[in-house]
Amino acid sequence: MLQQTQVKTVLPYFNKFTKKFPSLESLSKSSEKQILKMWEGLGYYRRARNLYACSKKIIVQYKGKLPKTLNEIKKLPGIGDYTGNALLGMVYDQPRIALDGNVKRVFARNLNKKEINIDFNKLIVSNSKTLFNTNRNADFVEALMEFGALICKPKNPKCFVCCLNKTCKYLRSSKKIRTSNKKMIRNKNYDIFCFVNKKNKQIALTKKNNLGFLKNFNLPMIKESNDNNIKSWKLLSNYRNSISNLKININLYYKFSNKIPVKYNWYSLENNKEFIPSFTKRIFKQVSTLF
Ligand code: SF4
Repeated sequence: MLQQTQVKTVLPYFNKFTKKFPSLESLSKSSEKQILKMWEGLGYYRRARNLYACSKKIIVQYKGKLPKTLNEIKKLPGIGDYTGNALLGMVYDQPRIALDGNVKRVFARNLNKKEINIDFNKLIVSNSKTLFNTNRNADFVEALMEFGALICKPKNPKCFVCCLNKTCKYLRSSKKIRTSNKKMIRNKNYDIFCFVNKKNKQIALTKKNNLGFLKNFNLPMIKESNDNNIKSWKLLSNYRNSISNLKININLYYKFSNKIPVKYNWYSLENNKEFIPSFTKRIFKQVSTLF
C-alpha cells in the first residue's frame, strides 16, 4: 500500500484491511472483487491484484510460507528485486538491502557520485561485511530506507545530526553532486465518450479500452484526442485528472442512447456496491448532473 502512497493516506485502509484479512489464508479465500472494493480510492490497483494473487500462490504452492530465496520469491506476482529483498530482510532477518530511491540517494551522497555511475549490486557485495555488521538485519532494511526519507532527504539533508557526517563525501566536497527524485510527468489529451441511458440513469462501460492506465477496468469509451468524430456527441465538461505520472486533460462527451456497442454493459450511476476506481467515479458524478 505504501508504494507511491503516503503513510497518512494508507493508515485507515491498512487498519481496515488487516482487520478484515488478519492472515494470508483469509486473504487468499477472498475474491479480487472484494479486495478491489476495499482498495477503492487508494489507486494503483495493480498492487491489490498482485497482493491477492500472491496470497493464493503462497497458500497453494508454498504451503503458506513465503519463499526464502530471492529467485523463488521473485516468482510471486508483482515481486521484483526491491520488494523481494525487503521481504527477505524483514521476514527472515536476512542481510538484505531494498534499493529504493531513498537508499540509492544515501549511497550516492556518501560517495558523492551520480546514481547512474554506481553499480549498486556490486557496491553492496563488495561492502557487505561493513554494511551487514549487525544482528538486526530486519531493522537494518527498514532503517536504511527511513534514513533516506528522514535524514538524507532529497532536499536539505540533515547533515548536522547524521551519523555518517564524518566520512560522507557529499558533505565534505566543494563540488556536490545533484540529486533529484523528480518524476517524469507526461501530459496527454483524451476524449471520453459516455453512452447514457436517460430512463434508467445508467452509463455504458467497457473493458475494451487499451490505454495502459486502468487496464482491465470498466470505463466509457476513451480515445486520445485527435480528429475524433464528435459531431453526434455533446460536450459535458473539460477537466484534468492525474494517474501516477500521467496528467490527463479530458473532454467529457455524452449521448443519450438506449443502444450500446458490443462489449459494453450498462452500469447504474447509483451503484455503490461494486468497486469503481476514482477516475470512473468522477465521470459518474458529472454524468449524474444530466438528471
Ligand atoms: S552527511 Fe548529509 S549528505 Fe551525507 S549521508 Fe548524512 S545526511 Fe546525507
